[in-house]
Amino acid sequence: MPDAPLYERVAFIGLGLIAGSMAHAMRRGGLVGETVGTARSADTRDVAREIGLVDRVVDSAAEAVEGADLVVLAVPVGAMGGVAEEIGPKLAPGATVTDVGSVKRAVIEAVGPHIPEGVHFIPAHPLAGTEHSGPRSGFATLFDNRFTLIVPSEGSDRDAVGRLETLWQGMGAHTEEMDADHHDLVLAVTSHTPHLIAYTMVGVADDLRRVTDSEVIKYSAAGFRDFTRIAASDPTMWRDVFLHNKDATLEILGRFTEELFALQRAIRTGDGDQLFDYFTHTREIRRGIIEAGQDTDAPDFGRAKTK
Ligand code: NAP
Repeated sequence: MPDAPLYERVAFIGLGLIAGSMAHAMRRGGLVGETVGTARSADTRDVAREIGLVDRVVDSAAEAVEGADLVVLAVPVGAMGGVAEEIGPKLAPGATVTDVGSVKRAVIEAVGPHIPEGVHFIPAHPLAGTEHSGPRSGFATLFDNRFTLIVPSEGSDRDAVGRLETLWQGMGAHTEEMDADHHDLVLAVTSHTPHLIAYTMVGVADDLRRVTDSEVIKYSAAGFRDFTRIAASDPTMWRDVFLHNKDATLEILGRFTEELFALQRAIRTGDGDQLFDYFTHTREIRRGIIEAGQDTDAPDFGRAKTK
């Protein structure tokens, strides 16, 4: 717990999985003074009030940011620009505005023009999430031992960047700084394209009338079950990710298609060596992820039996 709060008042715009988890983690660590939040719908605001997600829930983004020294934009990527336009004139001098969007270049272009002189805009992206969304889905440990990428620009104030990194570390995360375009390419490989593949695979199974719905559900243990979990992710969030990380996703998807054709050919021609070598290589990548502490090697796809 820090001697003094890192920020006196934090305003969350959007009260879903990520904002909720941040609010819980900030509370756990005693990291900040007051937390204030708002969401688009009255339903979400009511739930947030009921469960005490933040100290104070208000009805508009403009009201939420009044007097805040940290503003967190935690709405879908496509909504960031509109929110920034609304809050821009209300931001306190010296405040920091950050976001948690899964895409960085498009958010910087949408939000940047609305940030007034004297306010720090420091984009960020926690590499942690679940397939759940909404104000009840957050939990304090979401960011523990996960990376949060901080995406400052060349002119960013180093003290403001350092303070934001300290906050993320207090919430359990490791932090690293990264350039926006590189971020978008890395995430296209590690997150965005895999999500698209999962959506497609589940869609394909749904189309296969030779496999009945009940069979898909009953026999889904081997692999398909993990695809269904990913494909249950929030449709608005993921629509926006693909619309706003178009180039990098299309580039990786092109590479994916080439590899898929190569494996398809190996199966057709009975090239077992190629398949074996390929799968040996992918198994090594999995080992690397476990060695880096980013997943466990527990069997059953890493799921605890109690979940
Ligand atoms: P979420 O649980 O669906 O919450 C989104 C919040 O944004 C809700 O409170 C929603 O309000 C509000 N909102 C939606 N559209 C809005 C609009 N047009 N104007 C104002 N508020 C609006 O989403 P989340 O998972 O926390 O995601 C938030 C951000 O984090 C996204 O940019 C996403 O890319 C990023 N992110 C997500 C994950 C993940 O795994 N989920 C991981 C890392 C980063 P209502 O409830 O009233 O609609």
